[in-house]
Amino acid sequence: MTKRRASATTTAAAEPLRIVPLGGVGEIGKNMTVFEYGDEIVVIDCGLAFPDEEMYGIDLVIPDVTYLKERRGKVKAFLITHAHEDHVGALPYVLPAFPGVPVYASTLARGLLANKFKEHKLRDHPLHALEPGETVSLGVFTARGFRIGHSIPDAMGIALGTPLGTVVHTGDFKFDQTPVDGKGTDFHELARLGADGVLCLLSDSTRSESPGYTPSERTVGEAFRGIMEGLDGRVIVATFASNIARIQQVFDAAGEFGRKVAVIGRSMEQNTRIASDLGYLKPGAGQQVPKDRLRDIPDAELCIATTGAQGEPMAGLARMANRDHRFVEIGPGDTVIVSASPIPGNEEYVARTIDNLFKVGANVYYHAIRHAHVSGHASQEELKLMLNLTRPRAFIPVHGEFRMQVAHGRIAAEVGVSPENIFILENGQPLEFFPDGLIRRGSSVEAGMVFVDGLSVGEVGDVVLRDRRALASDGIFLCVVTVDRQNGSLVGKPEIVTRGFVATPDAKLLAGATERITRVLAGPGDRIDRINEIALLKEKLKDGLSQYLYESTKRRPMVMPVVVEV
Ligand SMILES: [Zn+2]
Ligand SMILES: [Zn+2]
Repeated sequence: MTKRRASATTTAAAEPLRIVPLGGVGEIGKNMTVFEYGDEIVVIDCGLAFPDEEMYGIDLVIPDVTYLKERRGKVKAFLITHAHEDHVGALPYVLPAFPGVPVYASTLARGLLANKFKEHKLRDHPLHALEPGETVSLGVFTARGFRIGHSIPDAMGIALGTPLGTVVHTGDFKFDQTPVDGKGTDFHELARLGADGVLCLLSDSTRSESPGYTPSERTVGEAFRGIMEGLDGRVIVATFASNIARIQQVFDAAGEFGRKVAVIGRSMEQNTRIASDLGYLKPGAGQQVPKDRLRDIPDAELCIATTGAQGEPMAGLARMANRDHRFVEIGPGDTVIVSASPIPGNEEYVARTIDNLFKVGANVYYHAIRHAHVSGHASQEELKLMLNLTRPRAFIPVHGEFRMQVAHGRIAAEVGVSPENIFILENGQPLEFFPDGLIRRGSSVEAGMVFVDGLSVGEVGDVVLRDRRALASDGIFLCVVTVDRQNGSLVGKPEIVTRGFVATPDAKLLAGATERITRVLAGPGDRIDRINEIALLKEKLKDGLSQYLYESTKRRPMVMPVVVEV
């Protein structure tokens, strides 16, 4: 504990400032942080995460916002750092609980969000401008956006003025000295913040394990040109739909070799249209061609930009590789550039897509072969620079799994942040700042995962998932047992249906199961006279059959007995 003065005076400034991460620590994705002072709350980002392979059937994962819902009246604003899904993707699911609470974002983010809001029938939700260099007053807070480099244009960090001092949240960032759009990080602003005093820094830990510097986005353009030089077949570049700078570089490199560009893939078409309208993407005059006109253009003059760089089975690249795409079939003579590195968890999909591309005869450049991709996140030396510029009193590494937070914490200690002021937090664990200088961890609040499955939000929980995992690993064993209402004995043969367990239950298994059912029915005290005894009987049948099936097959299918009385 740091110095704690016994203060008798209770003024408004005696309130603590609370910072509560609701997502994005101990994990990659669903970034969301709450800043609370007295009766006022502002939230930075509201992102989603993609399900891991254990989460069968789940479409998206969003943060549990119970804490905010319980303090609905306090919430003044949602501040958005940039429009990546892991920072804005949960908004459509969270905002309906906060009608009228404004969302602040920069121009491109607003363009992309307006589209998202329209799709989710949130057209009227207030969406306000907060551009880099602008300040907005939100009750006791002031929020100032500052420009920061990242893999989407218009990304911002946020300097939040609070009654106890300035808190700086970097959002996602890298220090690109030669950004493609010429709009680099506002180093002067960061230095000014540091000179004025920063109470706490929250900084991106995604690449805290990588030494050195992350290369400039421009190096990707050089790689594109190196690959395209001298080719006379088509070039297909797959990348992230939101990486407008990358798509710009596809246009630029293609343009140098006299190629036109078609953008294919729903999200990329949408994003490039919005980015072009807002002036963030500048194709050469007449360079962009509609996808239904591809056949009119000679192979040597064509480049296609598409989605699916993460191997997503339904996205452009995978469908083109599987010859399942309406406009493009990839084949011999085509060159494919997968301009991304697999996000952890997607390695398998990416590997399969690359295999399929080679199988159909294409030449493929991907992360292991050529560096046609750079990260949008800062490496260790950049993280040090961020810490040295802002010189925070306290430090919270965010946006990263636990080990990345720890690595980032060590970096902070190396550049001189006091180790007792470096806080590795978990989701739901508040950090409290007191006027007398005390900083301490508060007691944890509700936080975690909410699953989106089809149209349902939060209905599918751990119990449903446990069932899905059981079904996926050993299948289901369903038996219909008909019993005599009078004496509780088995009537006829039990009917057995299995799925995902065995192709067809053989005679031996059926006989064994029937024998076990008979034994359960004959057991003491199992006469059926009341409804609740049927439930008990079902339990016993379930236990007996599960045991039998495990003994005879060493597998544990989900057993579902159905009891019918006659
Ligand atoms: Zn990002
Ligand atoms: Zn992110």
